[in-house]
Amino acid sequence: MPLQDVAARVRPALAGFEPYDPAFSPCEVNLSANENTHPLPAAVLRRFADACAATPLNRYPDPLANELRDELAAWHGVARESVMVGNGGDELLFNLIFSFGGPGRSLVVAPPCFEEYKNFAKMCETDVVEVWRDPQSLLPDTDALVDAAREAAIVMITSPNNPTGDLVDSALVRRLLDETDALVLLDEAYVEFAGAQASLVSWVAANPRLMVLRTLSKAFALAGLRCGYLIADPQVIDVLAAIRQIYSEDVLAQAVATQAVRLRAELAPIVADIVAERKELAERLARLPGAHVWPSQANFLLVRLPNAAVVRARLRDEHSVLVRDFSYAKGLADCLRVTVGTHAENNRLMAALAAVVEGGQA
Ligand SMILES: *Cc1c(COP(=O)(O)O)cnc(C)c1O
Repeated sequence: MPLQDVAARVRPALAGFEPYDPAFSPCEVNLSANENTHPLPAAVLRRFADACAATPLNRYPDPLANELRDELAAWHGVARESVMVGNGGDELLFNLIFSFGGPGRSLVVAPPCFEEYKNFAKMCETDVVEVWRDPQSLLPDTDALVDAAREAAIVMITSPNNPTGDLVDSALVRRLLDETDALVLLDEAYVEFAGAQASLVSWVAANPRLMVLRTLSKAFALAGLRCGYLIADPQVIDVLAAIRQIYSEDVLAQAVATQAVRLRAELAPIVADIVAERKELAERLARLPGAHVWPSQANFLLVRLPNAAVVRARLRDEHSVLVRDFSYAKGLADCLRVTVGTHAENNRLMAALAAVVEGGQA
């Protein structure tokens, strides 16, 4: 018998999903995915290679990655029991909604934000309540978020937010914790670019409903490794430990991530350089005719430009420079998101933009 009506056989909550398409095209300068494009120091790469060479591949991984957990726990001044490692932050986001969402429960988000929150919620049959940001400032609506969170199972707040770049006002997190009973997930994927005081990890100990997500994909320049982690109350970690795909974090990822966390001081100059480049790039972008650039605490900038989709296609096709198009997204008409690259990459971008945008100067 042939296979017929696959769509009708798929469980209803999963119907209509499409494979993720990062709209990647091979380009000489790729500033589209918020990766860290700076090369890592040779000594760090050697340590990664040594760690991989010393790792047997015939044995299963330690399911909970305890060596890596201990390294992360020591860094953040928490107990191992407060840390969970995942195959990228994405796995942890999914597992959180899988664990604490579900039919009859809701997830509150503040779009424009990371699209995956909503996708994962739908897959887990969790209602999504969208509290839209201010159309001009793109900052979250605190009162509306707190109101919506009163009825919610989970609230997801991104700080700095992707794609808008703003750091959350800690007073909003305070109110969500004090005035609602929801679990509060603070997604700090980009927080290393916002300065030492920006993270609210230190709040977790006194606020057991607060969960902080971090990743090695951005500041640590390890997007391909797939390693993220959550800092949360041990009771939350226990739930995630029980439902996770047991071997999702492979032995090579565990070995390299452990070294990366140990060697994190080596990355500080790279992060500092990206922060300095961000300031310069924001000023240069803002000088393009008709451009508006939102302030960013992350390693990317959101810019509104006339005919953004056309500009983006011409950057790609005529100058081999790739940036991310958000012009189709609700609330982000004519917006592009540009990752802050190396000085040379940022110069390539600006030269290309000057050529594409009439009257623009690099
Ligand atoms: C990149 C990103 C993550 C996590 O990415 P992983 O590569 O899965 O660790 C989480 N949240 C936001 C907002 C991001 O932009």
